[in-house]
Amino acid sequence: MHISKTTAYIGLGSNLSKPIEQVKAAIEVIAKLPQSHISAVSSLYLSKPMGPQDQDDYINAVLALETSLTAIELLDALQAIEHTAGRVRKDNRWGARILDLDIILFGDEVIDSPRLTIPHYGMCEREFVLVPLAEISPQLTLPNGTSVKLLSQNIEKNAMVKLN
Ligand code: ATP
Ligand code: CA
Ligand code: CA
Repeated sequence: MHISKTTAYIGLGSNLSKPIEQVKAAIEVIAKLPQSHISAVSSLYLSKPMGPQDQDDYINAVLALETSLTAIELLDALQAIEHTAGRVRKDNRWGARILDLDIILFGDEVIDSPRLTIPHYGMCEREFVLVPLAEISPQLTLPNGTSVKLLSQNIEKNAMVKLN
């Protein structure tokens, strides 16, 4: 039986406990998700924190996952991975974290539910999302037709560094 797959784009971020290792380890775990396989992984990027500035720089990346999970099943799986990595939910928004896994896009789906907003609400203003996304998928468009590459070229630059 053929089960149709959706291409989901996942944003990864870490700025605690050896962030490069955290992001690489998370990619290995995501690679083992059921009904899914990774089709592309961006370079790692070093970026400045959003919000509170009294925290270390972040390591960010984006990957493409071909999956027949639903968006909410994928969110559950990603939150379990964050939890296993040792992420503790705190009240301070955008504070330091061991691992953050966001669903940036889920095929052409537009979702606005209490647990899930897709496309990710912040993606169009975030260099550390748009640049790695355009790196792995230069032809990609948002559900509304906007070019990700164009967005990434026009985003305000914030001293982000590509690591490899
Ligand atoms: P931001 O959402 O601005 O990137 P954050 O990633 O630090 O900040 P979290 O504390 O990780 O925010 O997540 C808060 C909630 O966001 C999660 O519990 C989840 O239900 C919800 N959420 C909504 N849309 C998404 C999405 N596309 N990907 C991941 N989580 C989402
Ligand atoms: Ca986030
Ligand atoms: Ca998140």
